[in-house]
Amino acid sequence: MIPQTTQHEAAMLPEPEEYLSYVDLLELNKSTISLGQAIFSLIKRKKPSFFDRKFWTAEMMEWSMKNPELKLNMFRLVDVLPTLKTNEAITQHLAEYLSPVAKKINPLLNWLIDIDPSSPRATLAGIATRFGVEQMAVQFIAGHDPESALPALRKLRANKLAFTVDLLGEYSLSEKEAVAYVDRYIEALNVFSKFVPYWPEAKPLIKGHRGDSTPVCISVKLTALYSQCGPLNVDRSVRVLSERLGAIVRRAKELNAFVYVDAEDSGNNEIIYKTFARVFGSEEFRDFPYPGIVVQTYSKNAESILDSLIEFSRLRGSPIAVRLVKGAYWDHETISCDQNDWECPLFRIKESSDANYELLSKKLIDHHDLILPAFGSHNVRSLAHACTYAKMKGLQPKDFELQMLFGMADPIAQAFIDEGYLVRQYTPLGEMLPGMGYLIRRLLENTSNESFLRHTFFEDDKIEDLLRQPEMRE
Ligand SMILES: Cc1cc2nc3c(=O)[nH]c(=O)nc-3n(C[C@H](O)[C@H](O)[C@H](O)COP(=O)(O)OP(=O)(O)OC[C@H]3O[C@@H](n4cnc5c(N)ncnc54)[C@H](O)[C@@H]3O)c2cc1C
Repeated sequence: MIPQTTQHEAAMLPEPEEYLSYVDLLELNKSTISLGQAIFSLIKRKKPSFFDRKFWTAEMMEWSMKNPELKLNMFRLVDVLPTLKTNEAITQHLAEYLSPVAKKINPLLNWLIDIDPSSPRATLAGIATRFGVEQMAVQFIAGHDPESALPALRKLRANKLAFTVDLLGEYSLSEKEAVAYVDRYIEALNVFSKFVPYWPEAKPLIKGHRGDSTPVCISVKLTALYSQCGPLNVDRSVRVLSERLGAIVRRAKELNAFVYVDAEDSGNNEIIYKTFARVFGSEEFRDFPYPGIVVQTYSKNAESILDSLIEFSRLRGSPIAVRLVKGAYWDHETISCDQNDWECPLFRIKESSDANYELLSKKLIDHHDLILPAFGSHNVRSLAHACTYAKMKGLQPKDFELQMLFGMADPIAQAFIDEGYLVRQYTPLGEMLPGMGYLIRRLLENTSNESFLRHTFFEDDKIEDLLRQPEMRE
């Protein structure tokens, strides 16, 4: 289990703010804005394909952003689509989900959607709908299995991007499925290690970068490794997951690959952190280089989790990697809390998650001897702040990395690479059905009123507003 820091120990951990005078803080903000402006001038508002009106998906996003009811029903349709086997079933769902809203928006739109499932037009509509959603999915998913993803991964390296591969799948429903998922990870490691290290593109992207000493890296979603995983079954979940994650890590160690463990919803995170500590604190894996774990800054207890991880790394005696993100389950968790009248463990105001991100970025950088910092975000302000603080503290680009999601923010990734930073892309592989949870989270994220990408590429907000310093508001 991750040792919880006692009050006394927590008081001894350096508070980044204490090390910065008021003048330093002003300088940090000024330099952050100036790096942010440099990034924006490199991007030149070139849009990720997702927001580019040349593409069909951008049209769909635009409709849904303008009409929340359409957005809800469109995403419900996307969610069930992989289970619909016939064109007739697709047209029936298309009409049921979208026709009531389409009528209110535009009669022509309704004419396109409200089709008799037995009519000849139904075949065409079914094919077009499936094709459209598949087109959207391929923007975020690099291949259906490790072999088919090799060309896309090689192209990433050729574009000076490192990668971490995620095999899509969450919440296995049976033990057969969960065990098969472990085997798929081991097989993926076998495939990547057979090919990737021999590509000329696999040579280190930044000399001496600790995170790129091997090009093969995977990210694992633990809840998919055990069908009975859940907050009412903590001890057994940790025991079973430790064995299964251990099997993956054993193979990764033999093949010289890095492993990150993703963070999930708050209910499962206790299990995830305990499993991480049990596996990587064990005799067998104590020296495993830079095992990665995730901290979500939308969570009110993110700082105490990070303190515990810093302490864990100190006790372990060899550094771990921490990917700092804001968190991907905000809608799901806040809605569940409201429905059940539970106290919500997440911030309710977006700016608080951003401010917490900056606070914890400093803490990560201040402990870079114990932690390899990895900043996972597409928000130029959040990333520019981390890079600027790192520079103020004497770190070089080889001492930390930036991480982004495959297909989400390529122009931003390219701009940070041009500024000399290492960017790793989190690259999902898999079929449409297990990929739907992931796809829906990305669609919700990009169309949310609060999304930095939406404000940058869809609303065209002013750069000075996009780079404004966030404040903790709750
Ligand atoms: C490489 C990589 C790996 C990732 N791995 C994980 C992972 O393991 N686990 C995980 O949970 N997420 C993960 N994410 C997703 C991440 O948590 C964010 O959802 C995503 O990156 C959007 O944040 P942003 O900083 O890019 O954008 P921004 O637009 O700046 O921030 C959006 C985020 O702000 C937060 N937010 C939105 N509205 C509110 C509100 N009203 N109040 C408080 N907070 C709000 C949410 O977290 C939302 O995702 C990963 C992201 C990347 C780039």
